[in-house]
This record gives sequence, C-alpha cells and structure tokens, in this order.
Amino acid sequence: MQPNSLPMEMRYSAAKAMFQPMNGSPVEPDELWMEESLRAARRALDAGEVPVGAVIVHQGKIVGRGFNRNLLDSDPTAHAEVVALREAGAAVGNYRLSDCELFATIEPCAMCAGAMVHARIRRLVYGADDPKAGAVGSALHVLNHPALNHRMEVRGGVLAGRCAEILQEFFRSRR
Ligand SMILES: [Zn+2]
Repeated sequence: MQPNSLPMEMRYSAAKAMFQPMNGSPVEPDELWMEESLRAARRALDAGEVPVGAVIVHQGKIVGRGFNRNLLDSDPTAHAEVVALREAGAAVGNYRLSDCELFATIEPCAMCAGAMVHARIRRLVYGADDPKAGAVGSALHVLNHPALNHRMEVRGGVLAGRCAEILQEFFRSRR
C-alpha cells in the first residue's frame, strides 16, 4: 500500500517505518522536519497570522524555528523563514549557515530567498508552491539565479497538500 493512501497519522508512522535505518544511525527524512514546520505554521494560524512555518536543521537538530509574525511584531520582514534564520544564526554563532537545511511550508518569497542566499543555506525543502510570490521559480527566480554565485539544493512539494490546506483554512476563515 502506498503511504499516501493512508490517513495522516498512519502515513506519518509509515514514513518513519520506511526510513528505519539499517545500521541504527538516525535518519531524518524531509517529511519529519516538514511536520515541525507545519507545527510552527499552526502557531501562526492560532495567532491570526498568515500560517507559514519554517525550521532550520543543523547536524540533525533544529537550530531555528519561525512562523509568520508580521502583525505580532509590526515587522514587515518577520516571515517564518527570516525569523528562523535569525534564531539559527544566534544558535550556531555565525551568520553563515552553510551546513544548514531550511524547511518551509510554502515556497519562499523574494525577500526570504534573498536572506537564504545571504546565509548560504545549503539546502531548501519546501511544501506548496506559491504561484503569486514564490521566488524559487513560480513567480520569480531568485534562488539559483545565474547572476548569483551561491547554489542551493532545492526540493519542493514535501507534504504540499497539508501545507496548502492550512493556508486555505486561514483565507477561508477571513472571508
Ligand atoms: Zn518571505
């Protein structure tokens, strides 16, 4: 049976089972970190913010976590990814985060993609595409733009349905 045909909780444990390491070393698939980003997005939703969440992982540990807090902080730059980058920089003690992976529920915007390039993030994993503002190719192409030196590994579409669903829930509730 394909994991996608299972209910969400079962899918989660099926994903874990599928990634059981053979040699006992910890293996953390992208889906498990995305669950953490979704948890952060849920906190944004509870706070009445646009529900986007992000976590930054360094050597198998979360070093930065963020959700959108533009309203909470009266800060136009307080997107989930930027909040997570600030926390990760402080945790790692370096503004360069070249050993880090960032997991975001939605394709990052131009500002966040730019911030990730400044941080030299090694790898980006995101959930749903953002056709209106996504800067990983949907609306703009900031990440891996030919004019920029930094190359970032990118994987999109991880738990995309659930990442989009929480946004839809938010916009539905505001109508
Ligand atoms: Zn952004």
